[in-house]
Amino acid sequence: MEFPITGLLSEEESEQWILKHFHPQGLKCSWCQASVEQANLFRVTRKSKLKVYRCCKCKHTYNLYSRTVLQQHHLTPQQVVLLLRGILKGETTNELAAELGLSYLTVLSLRRELQLDFIQKIQEERCE
Ligand SMILES: [Zn+2]
Repeated sequence: MEFPITGLLSEEESEQWILKHFHPQGLKCSWCQASVEQANLFRVTRKSKLKVYRCCKCKHTYNLYSRTVLQQHHLTPQQVVLLLRGILKGETTNELAAELGLSYLTVLSLRRELQLDFIQKIQEERCE
């Protein structure tokens, strides 16, 4: 039985969770590193409902997923949170794809990229 679980999570709280885990220093321009306070809200993406900011300093646009493995996949923040949760719980790619309404290949590719990213972080922490 599959539940429409993404609808049960708050978009706002999911965004905060992603911000904390993918941008621990706060959201910054991915080009010049100016803080998000130095940017204007430019638009909201249609599919993933992400806020796109335009940097006041360098005029580039960026969002919560810029320069992370999440960029270009068009997931909603709720799908990202549940995907990471599922991967950490050891759910299969098939189960996650069905539960989150994503293609098998999208989940497979993100699983590989996220695992690579996590492994790199663990190795960096060991060297500190
Ligand atoms: Zn900038």
